[in-house]
Amino acid sequence: NVYGQAIKTTENEIGGHFKAFMVWADEIRKLKVRTNADTPRDAEHAVKFGAEGIGLCRTEHMFFDEERIPAVREMIVSKTELQRRKALDKLLPMQREDFIGIYEAMEDRPVTIRLLDPPLHEFLPQVDEDIRDLAEEMELNFEELKATVESLHEFNPMMGHRGCRLPVSYPEIAEMQTRAVIEAAIDVKKRKGYNIVPEIMIPLVGEVKELKFVKNIVVTIAEEVIAKEGIDLKYLVGTMIEIPRAALTADEIAKEAEFFSFGTNDLTQMTFGFSRDDAGKFLEDYYNNKIYQFDPFQKLDQVGVGKLVKMAAELGKQTRPDIHLGICGEHGGDPSSIEFCHNVGLDYVSCSPFRVPVARLAAAQAQVKNCRK
Ligand code: PEP
Ligand code: MG
Repeated sequence: NVYGQAIKTTENEIGGHFKAFMVWADEIRKLKVRTNADTPRDAEHAVKFGAEGIGLCRTEHMFFDEERIPAVREMIVSKTELQRRKALDKLLPMQREDFIGIYEAMEDRPVTIRLLDPPLHEFLPQVDEDIRDLAEEMELNFEELKATVESLHEFNPMMGHRGCRLPVSYPEIAEMQTRAVIEAAIDVKKRKGYNIVPEIMIPLVGEVKELKFVKNIVVTIAEEVIAKEGIDLKYLVGTMIEIPRAALTADEIAKEAEFFSFGTNDLTQMTFGFSRDDAGKFLEDYYNNKIYQFDPFQKLDQVGVGKLVKMAAELGKQTRPDIHLGICGEHGGDPSSIEFCHNVGLDYVSCSPFRVPVARLAAAQAQVKNCRK
């Protein structure tokens, strides 16, 4: 229907018999349900739907904001560390405000914040007209800026300079983000008294030494901020398992990671060897020819990708028996994948706010079907 004026709407909420039913589901399930949220508004919605924490806060979404993108671009095209730090100094208060809003919305619930993940060129203008505008705005020479943008071009950006590879090249990015996470946590803890334990997540790790390198940056800054504020704040540093090599070497990775979150979007992409952005163009032919029955980006491929998840969970526990395990790929909101996560012993699934009720029910059904202790 098309209406000629604004009509009265209500917020989505869980009430009545549906609420009673969901409470029964909650009484049964062992698997926790978190949400993927990057804004206080999404976080509040998810809590209303029953989310028990944030399993993935993608910090890059905060960088795309119209007010911030100039500082982000300035950081990216910087020629020197000093210039980059100047741009990062502009971003720090904004990131801190983001996290303050999220912690306030989540109160005592756990929040996992992931360090910057996408390739940097995603933030830059691509056509000449926009590059020209940016050059003017930043008082740079057009040709020079264009050359910088071109130098950031990658043939295969999803397998390129992204994730933990960014702070290996530019540690100051992880420094700024860690500072924002810890300062925000201290601020909200002091003002509201919530028991906040930030979980800092390092993405796209494939080798324990690169995790160790980035973790060292995170821990150094976190300890410095905590000492300066003179407050007792516990925090965790963990990683995503989203590259097959990380899954294969999860026993090594667990020496440095206090938690694993399975990024099954990338793990599916890299295990199948096809891009999640392009596979839609040919998967239909695979269904028609009965090679695949379903989209592995929607429903976890338990035979292949699932084998890596199960193996990594076991290897992680061998090294660190109390390691905390979750999933934050799209599969975290899919019922059959949730049952799989329950069966391989993950502690939680994390999905988009509107899928939280489905995940709560699927987790209870998995419990009834499989009777996990
Ligand atoms: C993933 O890879 O599963 C994930 C959650 O990260 P992103 O989708 O942001 O790459
Ligand atoms: Mg990923």
